[in-house]
Amino acid sequence: MTYYQKNLLLLVAVVFASCTNPVSKKIQQEKESDTYIVKNVNVIPMTAENKVVKNATVVIQDQKIISINDSIPTVGKIIDGTNKWLIPGLIDMHVHTWTSGSFIAPNRPTKGANIFWDTQGVMSLYISNGVTTTFDLDARAQHIGQRDEIASGKVIGPRMALAALINGGEGHGRKANIPSDGRQAVRSAKAEGYSFIKVYSFLNIETFNAIVDEANKQGLKVVGHIPDAFQGKLEEVFVPHFDMVAHAEEYTKHSIDKNIEDAQYFAKLAKENNTWLTSSLTTMVWIGSQLRGLDEVRNNENIKYIHPILQDRWLNEGTNSYYRRTNPEFIAQIDTYIDFQEKLIKAFKEAKVPIVAGTDAGIPVVIPGFSLHDELELLVDYGMTSEEALTSATRLPAEWLEIDKEVGTIEIGKYADLVLLNKNPLENIKNIRTINGVFVNGNWVNKKKIDQLLFELERYNKENKDNFKWDKRREY
Ligand SMILES: [Zn+2]
Repeated sequence: MTYYQKNLLLLVAVVFASCTNPVSKKIQQEKESDTYIVKNVNVIPMTAENKVVKNATVVIQDQKIISINDSIPTVGKIIDGTNKWLIPGLIDMHVHTWTSGSFIAPNRPTKGANIFWDTQGVMSLYISNGVTTTFDLDARAQHIGQRDEIASGKVIGPRMALAALINGGEGHGRKANIPSDGRQAVRSAKAEGYSFIKVYSFLNIETFNAIVDEANKQGLKVVGHIPDAFQGKLEEVFVPHFDMVAHAEEYTKHSIDKNIEDAQYFAKLAKENNTWLTSSLTTMVWIGSQLRGLDEVRNNENIKYIHPILQDRWLNEGTNSYYRRTNPEFIAQIDTYIDFQEKLIKAFKEAKVPIVAGTDAGIPVVIPGFSLHDELELLVDYGMTSEEALTSATRLPAEWLEIDKEVGTIEIGKYADLVLLNKNPLENIKNIRTINGVFVNGNWVNKKKIDQLLFELERYNKENKDNFKWDKRREY
């Protein structure tokens, strides 16, 4: 069952209970307190027409948008939207969410997890930045637990779409090196509750083809890397139902000259096969930065929201996974990658291949939530309009995830995943950072609450600075 189906069922259960249950009066009262009336707000619906509605009144009830400039209930919490802008909640289409786990050496398999992440700590960053849906591209059982903690209301967090990763060779993730194993891996992933499949770099061609075919039969969409086995025969990767490439970087590896003609050729292939693109540009820019030194990371004020063990790893030259490997050739290579990313975005936009915003949040030093704003700015730097960049993080990803009937635009009947901004993001995409409050599944998280979530996180990280050292990770 998807998160939405679950939510829908919950909703049905609540409505049903209110008709038959003696506690119906209480539920009725709660419903009134769950009604919000956003007054005098400028609505940017992000529908295909995207006609901005100025000074509108938006009503939210039972988690959903029930009216825009229409009937207004007598009871409800009023939110003043004067001179503010309402956009759909943002969607990050490429994240890696931290979960509790083990840093214990593999020769001690009976020892349990030794690092425990507070789910709220991980999710606060998304919510504070208006990210109300994430797509985890290497999801494991712990993520299903996190998703359920959010669904039950214990944690304020985004909707989580989860993809199970299938890899070949000796790589990480579920392994499949023959087609029948690939098909079985898809069926197992579906049975365990994953809604999407991620294909990874070390799959052989036959197994890749079998996975994509089986996923289609099982009704799971496929996103992923372009496996190394397609080197020199990129055309062959574009089989029907290979639905999305997870980074611009995947194409970069297949271009020798890194020129615009190559970018245009890749865009043509992707367009013909209806294979969408996740941008994931900010990752490469941060890799380039880390290879040159760690000052920029140290000066990033948002690093304080990262768990102390990761701060310790990322900020130290001996343990930062990129800085450790730095050399002039590596720097030059990444610079050409960054340069080619820009060409790819221009060519894919020109060829009308849908591009969705993703960040690879979770890898060094891509900070969840904040990084999606960076990504949108990069998309604009690379030639998108602010509106196109916003579309890449709202309507388009909702369509790809097939949740566009529930979220992705501001329309009556959709779940209230919304961001209230102090300034118009269509005028300048940087205004995406002027967050006044966020509706998460119909619940209002105001600026005060956002500041509190961030403050708690910063305080915990500071207080625990000395308790978590990367070098001692196996001892905890
Ligand atoms: Zn990734």
